[in-house]
Amino acid sequence: MLKKGNKFYSILTGTCPRCHEEGMYLDKNPYHLGKIYKMQERCSTCDLKYKIEPSFFYGAMYVSYGLGIAFAVAAFVIAKLIIGTTLINTFVAIIGTLILFMPIIMRISRNIWINLFIKYNPNFAKQNT
Ligand SMILES: [Zn+2]
Repeated sequence: MLKKGNKFYSILTGTCPRCHEEGMYLDKNPYHLGKIYKMQERCSTCDLKYKIEPSFFYGAMYVSYGLGIAFAVAAFVIAKLIIGTTLINTFVAIIGTLILFMPIIMRISRNIWINLFIKYNPNFAKQNT
């Protein structure tokens, strides 16, 4: 699953959605919160402009809602149904999970969002926007 050419590769590693050759972010680590949204302007390999249009990445917010809910459901299932904690502790576990994974959720949503619009293309040969 995690090979170049697969969308999951770009989504999970934050690499350029077109050539999968290099990272889109200035700092790979999403927990360096000051730089969480700092991206390269263009891919230096295939010259893709990441911000396809102004405020392109606002759309990633919708993806992050969905991802946030998925993480919350997972935390609920693990805490309440598997471990069997009380309702209040389940609630704490859900909030804690969301806070803990928020930087990853933010990054992954951006990666999913841009991958909805850009297809992998190994023969990128400077076809540009
Ligand atoms: Zn590229």
